[in-house]
Amino acid sequence: MRILIVEDEKKVAAFIKKGLEEETYAVDVAYDGEDGLHMGLENQYDLIILDLMLPVIDGLNVLSRLREKKVETPILLLTAKDSVEDKVTGLNTGADDYLTKPFAFSELLARIRVLLRRGKAETKTVLQIKDLTLDLVSHKVKRNDEEIELTGKEYSLLEYFMRNQGKVLTRTMIAEHVWDYNFDTFTNVIDVYVNHLRKKIDKSYPEKLLHTLRGVGYIMKE
Ligand code: CA
Repeated sequence: MRILIVEDEKKVAAFIKKGLEEETYAVDVAYDGEDGLHMGLENQYDLIILDLMLPVIDGLNVLSRLREKKVETPILLLTAKDSVEDKVTGLNTGADDYLTKPFAFSELLARIRVLLRRGKAETKTVLQIKDLTLDLVSHKVKRNDEEIELTGKEYSLLEYFMRNQGKVLTRTMIAEHVWDYNFDTFTNVIDVYVNHLRKKIDKSYPEKLLHTLRGVGYIMKE
């Protein structure tokens, strides 16, 4: 899952980015509204965390312009002002949730999990395909009840596959949702990671779940 943070306070942005990366999210940061708007329009984010008080273009303007351009990504507003008016305006403009600063990182994380689930069939915190399970809270991955150790990147790759079971995922889609802005798509890094992941989740089991579609990409299915 790939998240955009639009926040001009560098310390706050760095704190959120670090915490989210530890949770295996791919994270980009924009430090003003103009960059935030541009990145939100250019890239396929799974979630946008948007501060209201921003230089160049303020947060409410960024929000309304993203919605005008039909960007339907869930948006969580950050506000320093505990003003009811701001929150109501934000929600009416198309934000999905808001959080007043200062906040505990655990609360931010809990709200992010809810927003990433919204509109999806699964309401549980465990994703499953056949005997393979991924726990979104504890980050434990098991197949046939045996725990599988994954690196952070392998985990986020698997999460993306499991959230999109039965769908063909191209390398571009994978790059856009699992890696951040600095990722060079002209490398074979994705194939290397998929192979590592496949060794861990599929190799010693008779039924394979992760399939290669030559020249197209990958699909996870039974
Ligand atoms: Ca600010």
